[in-house]
Amino acid sequence: MASKDLSIVVPVYNEENSVSILHKEILDILNPLNRSYEVIFVDDGSTDRTLEELKKLSPAKIISFSRNFGKSQALQAGFDEADGNHIVTLDSDLQDDPREIPRFIEKIQSGHDLICGWKQKRADSFSRRFASKIANVAARHMTGIKIHDMNCGFKIYKSQVAKSLHLYGDMHRYIPSVASSMGFSVGEMAVNHRPRQFGASKYGFGRFINSSFDFITLIFLRRFTDRPMHLFGLFGSVLFMLGVLVLGYLSWEKIFYGAAIGGRPLLLLGALLVIVGFQSFSLGFIGELTIRQNREGRQFNIKEKINNI
Ligand code: UDP
Ligand code: MG
Repeated sequence: MASKDLSIVVPVYNEENSVSILHKEILDILNPLNRSYEVIFVDDGSTDRTLEELKKLSPAKIISFSRNFGKSQALQAGFDEADGNHIVTLDSDLQDDPREIPRFIEKIQSGHDLICGWKQKRADSFSRRFASKIANVAARHMTGIKIHDMNCGFKIYKSQVAKSLHLYGDMHRYIPSVASSMGFSVGEMAVNHRPRQFGASKYGFGRFINSSFDFITLIFLRRFTDRPMHLFGLFGSVLFMLGVLVLGYLSWEKIFYGAAIGGRPLLLLGALLVIVGFQSFSLGFIGELTIRQNREGRQFNIKEKINNI
């Protein structure tokens, strides 16, 4: 049972100048609401003074990673720790405005399981907005959910939604799609987006490339997560059967007509089909086994947990 009304989860990577300002902004908004809450900062292996700054904050829970594991893992660690009925996530670079939190709380009462922020007027560079636009249009078409801004860090979840996501890699970019494929209902709300004040965005060309691969993974996972056999098994069986037919035909020629089949290209093809088919089938089977064993696996590593009351 959740013991608080609200958990705020903030992933932080090298934001030494922002965290104390953000913490104060969050408290200023939450205190007058008369709800019980907690603020959880997950320091994703920052190399600047972020962790020292975080330790000064109270009330706050701080989770510190042993190294940089990425935003998805940071969010997951925060979700594991969170104890609220609802969980709000926001970025720590002060671009998301905590004054939107009460509207998020109101909006999620409307029956959705997850409300995703939408940076309608986005305070980022043109190339950044362009890349994001393309990614979102592609994601909308491929995943069939009508959200403008999947990757917005500002969201509110019913606790069980956040707790059932299993984020890794760069999956945080597609949370609405993952949640909807799990059967949760997803809504969106336009939010105020502020320009970055300190530090630099960690977004770069590398992240753009990686996120394209994540997108392919996502599409693949949507179809085959729980059933790799449906892909590898089908593919493998078809090849295997073709191989058996080819080899059967050659054997028939050899046995009944005494044909010399040793040098026939068809023999090579038949053998390859049988081998590749069998291997693909086994791959599907191993996939099934891995899924069964690795469901709850966590890939990050927590170095320290601090509970400032
Ligand atoms: N972040 C993180 N781990 C990382 C990179 C980023 O926890 O490896 C955090 C970062 O501190 C910020 C949020 O994720 O709170 C979004 O990062 P950023 O502003 O760089 O991304 P953008 O808003 O440009 O997509
Ligand atoms: Mg940002």
